[in-house]
Amino acid sequence: MRRVLILGGTAEARALAAELTGRGPHVVSSLAGRVSNPRLPVGEVREGGFGGPDGLARWLADERIDALVDATHPFAARMTASAAQASARTGVPLLVLRRPGWQEGPDDRWHRVASLEEAAGRLARWRSAPDGGHHLPADRPVRVFLTTGRRSLPVFTRVAGVWLLARSVDPPEPPVPGNVHVLLDRGPYTVEGERQLIRGHRLDVLVTKDSGGGMTTAKLVAARELGLPVIMVNRPPLPRGVHLVDTVEAAAAWAAQG
Ligand code: NAP
Repeated sequence: MRRVLILGGTAEARALAAELTGRGPHVVSSLAGRVSNPRLPVGEVREGGFGGPDGLARWLADERIDALVDATHPFAARMTASAAQASARTGVPLLVLRRPGWQEGPDDRWHRVASLEEAAGRLARWRSAPDGGHHLPADRPVRVFLTTGRRSLPVFTRVAGVWLLARSVDPPEPPVPGNVHVLLDRGPYTVEGERQLIRGHRLDVLVTKDSGGGMTTAKLVAARELGLPVIMVNRPPLPRGVHLVDTVEAAAAWAAQG
């Protein structure tokens, strides 16, 4: 029987496992094991890192995997690089499934940056050099809606003159500085809920990653409606030459073929 490994941790990976189940192949889904109570895909699941590209290459051979689908989050760059290297070494074909990124509309006030560090730098400079004519308050801390993930928090707590509403699935590593309010939530979110959050906490700016997908777009709609500027961290580049699709259907068709 054809054996497919899905590198997961996303809604698309769960949808792909569900789609492939019953279409022939035996599917194993892999999770990093970082989230305390992950949403699980149907079928066989393994958890934890493989030990870099060499470990993944060994695992693919030991488990006689015929096809590998990298359906990890667009910002899981290490796993994606590892998958590309392991595929090249073993000859196991690799497909990358990535949801499309978000596109700025005419009423959005986005500022695209290349990295989390650049986003923090942009925040630090903003008050002295207003970005794109968008002024942030100079007489009080800038109130930031931060949705870049708990592990990115230290990058932003170093910025002077900010107060952070940091929303994440699991709590960040302590100690959490006094200018940070942690909000534990995993969505899906509604535009009305996001509007209330932005208004209730008097937030000045949203900092987020270009994750794409529908689960977390409500904050962008609410930011647009309320005229909130957005610092949007661009996705890391994909390894050169990978075969890429952006729908679960296309990935399922590729993975099911023998
Ligand atoms: P990362 O930085 O690319 O990965 C770090 C290491 O974690 C990898 O080198 C690998 O360890 C292990 N790993 C990552 N994904 C794995 C998987 N699906 N199965 C087994 N091992 C995995 O990734 P990350 O940004 O920490 O994300 C971790 C997981 O959370 C991913 O599965 C991703 O889909 C999900 N996720 C990430 C984000 C995000 O914003 N980054 C958001 C939502 C969900 P070894 O080198 O030992 O193999």
